[in-house]
Parts: sequence; C-alpha cells; structure tokens
Amino acid sequence: MSIERLAILGSTGSIGVQTLDIVRRYPERFKVTALVAHSRWEMLAAQAREFEVESVVIGDAQHYEALKDALKDTNVEVMAGSDAINHIASSYRSDTVVNALVGYAGLHPTYLAIESGKRIALANKETLVVGGDIIMDAAKRKGVDILPIDSEHSAIMQCLEGEKRKAIRNLIITCSGGALRDVPSEELVNVTPERALKHPQWSMGAKITIDSATLVNKGFEVIEARWLFDIEPERIKVVVHPQSIVHSMVEFTDGAVKAQLGNADMHTPISYALLYPERAEEAMERFSILDYPTLTFLDVDREKYPALDIAYEVLERGGTAPCTMNGANEVAVAAFLNHKCRYTDIVASIRYALDNTSFEKHPTLATYDAANIEARDLARRFLKL
Ligand code: NDP
Ligand code: MG
Repeated sequence: MSIERLAILGSTGSIGVQTLDIVRRYPERFKVTALVAHSRWEMLAAQAREFEVESVVIGDAQHYEALKDALKDTNVEVMAGSDAINHIASSYRSDTVVNALVGYAGLHPTYLAIESGKRIALANKETLVVGGDIIMDAAKRKGVDILPIDSEHSAIMQCLEGEKRKAIRNLIITCSGGALRDVPSEELVNVTPERALKHPQWSMGAKITIDSATLVNKGFEVIEARWLFDIEPERIKVVVHPQSIVHSMVEFTDGAVKAQLGNADMHTPISYALLYPERAEEAMERFSILDYPTLTFLDVDREKYPALDIAYEVLERGGTAPCTMNGANEVAVAAFLNHKCRYTDIVASIRYALDNTSFEKHPTLATYDAANIEARDLARRFLKL
C-alpha cells in the first residue's frame, strides 16, 4: 500500500492532537506533509519537528515570526494567514485533508480540498451545518469521500455498512445531555463558563463543550446527518443517553435497530475515518460491556433545550438560515466564555439573529460569507458587544 499524505488542519486542538496519536501508530501508512493551527505556535513547532512535516501554517499572523524562529534550524516551510490555509487545503501535496478546525473557518478549506479531489476526514461539522448542500454536491461531482469524525456520524456510518438505503427507517442520534443535564432550567441563567465546561463524558475543545451544554451541538449534528446521509430531517431522531456508550443507532424497516457502542474516546472514530475501510488493529483502550450494566435512554426536554428545535427550523428554512444560526452561536459562545454574556443569552442571540437576518434562499459560498458576517453583527448587537 502506498503511503498516504495527510494535511491536518487544526492540529493543536483536541481532535488534531488525537489524530496525531493515530498517525504515530501507523508510520508506514501515513506521512503528515502539512500542519495548520491558529495561535498555539509552540505546540505547532513541536509537532512539525516530531512528524518532520514539509510545511506549517499559523492562522493568526502575529505568531508568524515566533514560529519561523522556532523552526529556523529546519527545512520546514512556514506560512501564515487564511490564504495559506486555503493553499494547504487545495493545491498542496496531500491525499487526505483532516479538517479539525473549529467554526466557520473550516468551510472554505473543506470546499477547496474537495475541488482538488482530496479525500476528507471531517471533524469540522460547521462545514456541513453552513454549506451542506454545496459541499455534498461538490463531493459527488468530484467523486470525493467525506469520512465523518464526529462520533455519532461515525457510528451511523458503521451501522449502515452493507445496508440498502431503502431499508433505513430512522437515524437515532444519541446525546449525553451535556454538562448542565442535571441543572434545573430556572438556574441556567446563572451558570458560569467554568460550570458549563465540565462535560460529564467527553474531553473536547471549549466551543463544542459549550455547544454540547446548550444542545446546539446536537442540533448541528442533526443538520450534519441530513447532509452526510442524504436523509429527511423528520427521520433523524435525538435521544438522551447519559452514559455516552451507544454512539448512535439506525432503525431499519424490518424493525431491527443497529447500534455502535464503545468508550467515549474520539480515537475510535478518528481511526475509523483515517483507516476506512480497514480498522485499527489495536484500540487505545478496550471496551467492556460489563462495566456498563445499565444503559439508559430518554427523551430530550425541548423546553430546557430550545436549540434543538431551532436546528430543525433552520433545516426546514434552508438557504442561509443554518449559517445564521452558526454565526450568531459562534459570537455568543465566545462572549459567554469571556464572561461577556449569560449562558441563556447564547440561544437568545441565535433567535434574534434568525428573526432579523436578510435571508437568502439560494446561497453561494460568497453569500455564506456575507450571511456569516451579518449573523455575527446581529449577535453582537443583541449582546451589546
Ligand atoms: P479545539 O478548539 O480544541 O481546536 C481547534 C483547532 O482549530 C486548533 O488547532 C486551533 O488552533 C484551530 N483554529 C481555531 N480557530 C481557527 C481559525 N480561525 N483559523 C484556523 N485555525 C483555527 O476544537 P476541537 O478539536 O474540539 O474541535 C474541532 C472541530 O471538531 C469542531 O468543529 C468540533 O465541533 C468538531 N468535533 C470535535 C470533537 C471533540 O471531541 N473535540 C468531537 C466531534 C466533533 P490553536 O489551538 O492553535 O489556536
Ligand atoms: Mg458528536
């Protein structure tokens, strides 16, 4: 088997670091050619040395000189800024692009990588939330595979192996309930970022941990599933499963339900995406069902978690509506993490942006850029930032 060249976007983040854990185990299978980060230049420099990459990009150009200096005794090419990220995603020497950037910043690189005919291992769900239609069309046109890293979508993909489309009745996405599962609704207004960051099962980047608390993340996963598996939103269900052992399920027409189980460890879905159609020979940590004699499932409290219904609403509206939800959410989550707004202002900002946006039914990538800027402005106006 020939060596597969990887470009890893977001290598300093939670998914990026775990991706490198997998790559480290398969030196004969993968060669990392490029790494992209945003601000953590010291970690990026250390990764560049360890994996002997050809090129690195630091998104935030103010760290360019420091990064360049840290790698001055190597042959590593050092670049900065979003054009350089786009260059890595498109024309650069790689077979697969792992997109583990966070937020809207992931959209253009995914699109460019697809247009360049590269295989995509996709963690950046915002890509599909914002531009699922355009992205999946491009992937089909180019014959490019998009392999999901998100654990729920990896689970569904595994359940669908060898199955016929017409046999699928429903996709059932599981949801831990996030860090505030046991906090009563009336206390949510006073929740601090520190409290909301304490996810009971998963250790992830700050933004997705807050998105998990509000269930914006689950709403985004419904949208992601709609595009990845080309299935109508009403056939995508969400159930709360506090143990996070069943990563998602597929219900078939004959009444059978397939589920994928395992530890709450992103190494498994990452390795599935990277090695597909093969599997990793060894797990990071073996799973034992006997450790979990009780697995429970319950309905989502739609009053406590309005974000889930908003996600179905924006899917129904289509066009730029999901982009508006995403842009407002990004601003509000950052504000909440910086103690600039209350927890409950996050969903309120999304609502405000959706109610005041200049909606566009048939967007292009350029329309998304404009809708994203508008959504961010609307959220800032609402939050008085
Ligand atoms: P992190 O915040 O841990 O990492 C994000 C990465 O992207 C970092 O390398 C960061 O660089 C970089 N980055 C951030 N902003 C920009 C920008 N504007 N331009 C370029 N690079 C940028 O996030 P996660 O790893 O948790 O999540 C990444 C994606 O994967 C998200 O879309 C998330 O929803 C998804 N995901 C994550 C899961 C998880 O377990 N973490 C599970 C399922 C999906 P730096 O650190 O140097 O600033
Ligand atoms: Mg997930």
